Parts: sequence; C-alpha cells; structure tokens
Amino acid sequence: MNIILLGPPGAGKGTQSAQLVKHHGMRQLSTGDMLRAAVKAGTPIGLKAKEIMERGELVSDEIVSGLIDAELAAMGEHVGAIFDGYPRTAVQAEKLDAILARHDRRLDRVIELEVDEDALVERITGRFTCARCGASYHVRFMQPETAGTCDKCGATEFKRRPDDNEETVRTRMAEYRAKTAPILPIYEARGIVTRIDGMASIEEVTTAIDHALATA
Ligand code: AMP
Repeated sequence: MNIILLGPPGAGKGTQSAQLVKHHGMRQLSTGDMLRAAVKAGTPIGLKAKEIMERGELVSDEIVSGLIDAELAAMGEHVGAIFDGYPRTAVQAEKLDAILARHDRRLDRVIELEVDEDALVERITGRFTCARCGASYHVRFMQPETAGTCDKCGATEFKRRPDDNEETVRTRMAEYRAKTAPILPIYEARGIVTRIDGMASIEEVTTAIDHALATA
C-alpha cells in the first residue's frame, strides 16, 4: 500500500505518519525530514535548501523528487510508503507517477487532512520535539507528563524547528494554497482521495485513516 498524506503545515501529517509506521509497518518518506537532515549534515543539497526552508518557500522539484526516488530504491519492495509533504506541486505529482512506475508501485490512496488555518498557526508555533528521539510535543496540547523530561526516552533537551515561527508559517500556508492544493483534482479524477477532518483528535484522525485504508 502506498499513500500520500496531504494537508497544510501543521495538519498532522507527521503525527499520523508515525501512527501508520507503528501500526502498519509502513515507511514514512518525509521530504521535510530528509531536507532537515541534509541541512544538518551540511551536504550540497542541504546548503542549497537551508535558506529556502527558512523563508518557508519550496525547494526545487528536482531535488525533492531525487530524494524520494533514492529512498524508494533503498527500501524493501513490500514495505508500504507514506508520502508526507511530497508531492507539493503539479510537477512533483507527475514525477511521483513516473517514480512509482519505475519502482513497480501504485498509488492506493490520497488522504487529505482538512484544517482551519488560524488554528494551525497556534498548533505549529507551539510544537517542539525531543532533541534525542524526536517525540512530538506541544506547549498547550501535549506537554510531557513530567515537565522538561521526554516521556519516550527520558531526555531533557528539546528543540523547535527554525521555520515554525508565525511569519514563515504564513508563507508556508500561502505556498500550500497556491501550489499544493491545486494538485488534488489530479487525484480526485482517479477516485482515490479521502477527506478527513484534521481538527478532530489525534485518535479520531488515526481511526478515520485506518478506515480509509481498509476500504482502499
Ligand atoms: P515540512 O517538514 O514538510 O513542513 O517541510 C519543511 C520545508 O522543507 C518546506 O517549507 C519546504 O521549504 C521544504 N520542503 C519539504 N518538502 C518539500 C517538497 N516536497 N517540495 C519543496 N519543498 C519542500
């Protein structure tokens, strides 16, 4: 099973991907995570992407499609892929079709997480992760059980993404509206889109996604 999770920044794509990885043994392919790793490692791709990401703009279609292609080539052919944050433009959607065909995979479902944009700004600007294991938290909605200590691994260092400030979030949302939302009709025409209320609780969204995949 290969699926795309589509939705503006903060819609819960990463959180729901983690659930799918845990419960269905799928693999999350997040171009945002791959790019952040490249920035951290100082690779040529990271050097190109750093400032673009800090502004909340989109990295080139060629770069992100190359990253996805390489990840698919490296993973087991029977492991399902969750595309998280990719494709983000019509060109990327076309490239994904070609990449999937090359890897003998087909796209089973596109899950669109529908969300209220103003609520998203609060979600995004309050989120932080464990610096050691990457577990996700939120200053208002999901504090660690013991303040200052990660529930999952006990680490005491946390970090925030540099692009999770309000100004950059607004640019990221504008990019989503202008370039990503318009690719939905491509998948609607194929009858593979399921819309889910992304403002529901994490558990409710997970259940709705499970249902959509069971009937795909
Ligand atoms: P994300 O973690 O998905 O919110 O992505 C963080 C940033 O990485 C975005 O704001 C873009 O600058 C860049 N990025 C991630 N995925 C893509 C993509 N598919 N196409 C272009 N830029 C991307």
